[in-house]
Amino acid sequence: MSTDALRRFDDVNAVAAGFLRDLAYAQTSEPKMFGYKRAAAAVLALEQPLTNLAGPGRNLARIPGIGPASERVILEVLESGTSPTADAAVARSDRAADIARRRTLRGHFLSRAEVLRILRDPRFDGPTHGDYHGDLQMHSEWSDGSPTLGDIAEACLARGYTYAAVTDHSHGLKIAGGMSMAEASAQHQAIERLNERYNGRFRMIKGIEANIGADGRLDLSADEAACFELVLAAPHSKLRRSEDQTARLVAAVATPGVHVLAHPRGRITGSRAGVVAEWDAVFAAAVEHGVAVEIDGDPSRQDLDFTMAERALAAGCIFALDSDAHTTSQLAYAETALAHARLAGIPPERIINCWTTERLLDWLAS
Ligand SMILES: [Zn+2]
Repeated sequence: MSTDALRRFDDVNAVAAGFLRDLAYAQTSEPKMFGYKRAAAAVLALEQPLTNLAGPGRNLARIPGIGPASERVILEVLESGTSPTADAAVARSDRAADIARRRTLRGHFLSRAEVLRILRDPRFDGPTHGDYHGDLQMHSEWSDGSPTLGDIAEACLARGYTYAAVTDHSHGLKIAGGMSMAEASAQHQAIERLNERYNGRFRMIKGIEANIGADGRLDLSADEAACFELVLAAPHSKLRRSEDQTARLVAAVATPGVHVLAHPRGRITGSRAGVVAEWDAVFAAAVEHGVAVEIDGDPSRQDLDFTMAERALAAGCIFALDSDAHTTSQLAYAETALAHARLAGIPPERIINCWTTERLLDWLAS
């Protein structure tokens, strides 16, 4: 079957969650708004499509987070693909324009159930669980994450990884608890002790998520960047501008020492579109400088998505597939990235997380 035919999926959970979010923004009462938002989040996190969970003798409202009002919307979507209840509430509200804008910012986001379906479907080319050896973006207690380095190592081993990079924020991103260079050096000593303890069974990589400034410069000097084994560069500001920012991203990937352009757009589902750029020029620059582009698997990011990843693949890019986890349970977000890579048909050979420890470390050092 062609990829196009395979892609004509109906991600019913994403559709239903979209209507629940519309309904949330149409509310004037805060508790009701939060109720519908909670229901949308619960639907997006389900491991099965709603079609399997509804029907005779079943009760969707028994699913935590989904109340009777949300259940009615879901049943409408299952029956007709749309929700007259949500549409009417949006029309009655004074927020129709804002809700219409938010709808345009939900494109190419996959629900958890759809991610799992894509991972199971053998008709897709692209990486499987077994090809994936380690996650290269995550955050620990050293910046805005919660786990300790030891928690991360154990959680990664439990997922069958042989390596993982801890990529806490660098000092320029104070809002995310960015590490000073003194803290980074203390973290590196802790990582070295940890690697000694695991004695080859697991390799933790000393990473950093550097911030790309408005002018494309990183918040790390070249000397500082050289202290890390893996440098991600990612935009965290000016993500709601409509002007072109190609030059900013090209400057970032051309910076010596950068390995990965992480969450390249900085989009957030239903909230912001992220950086506007001539992406083919950005991807060409990434190829020229040997920088991998990331598929960030955080469900609210999914950045790059499969349509953009396909363009990056055609440009000749290599990829990093990461969870961007801030807790150990969020390591499962790497599966969202794997699903997009499968939809885009990226061969494992082009994904740095599918390389052996030795090959990855060689590439990082070169
Ligand atoms: Zn980030």
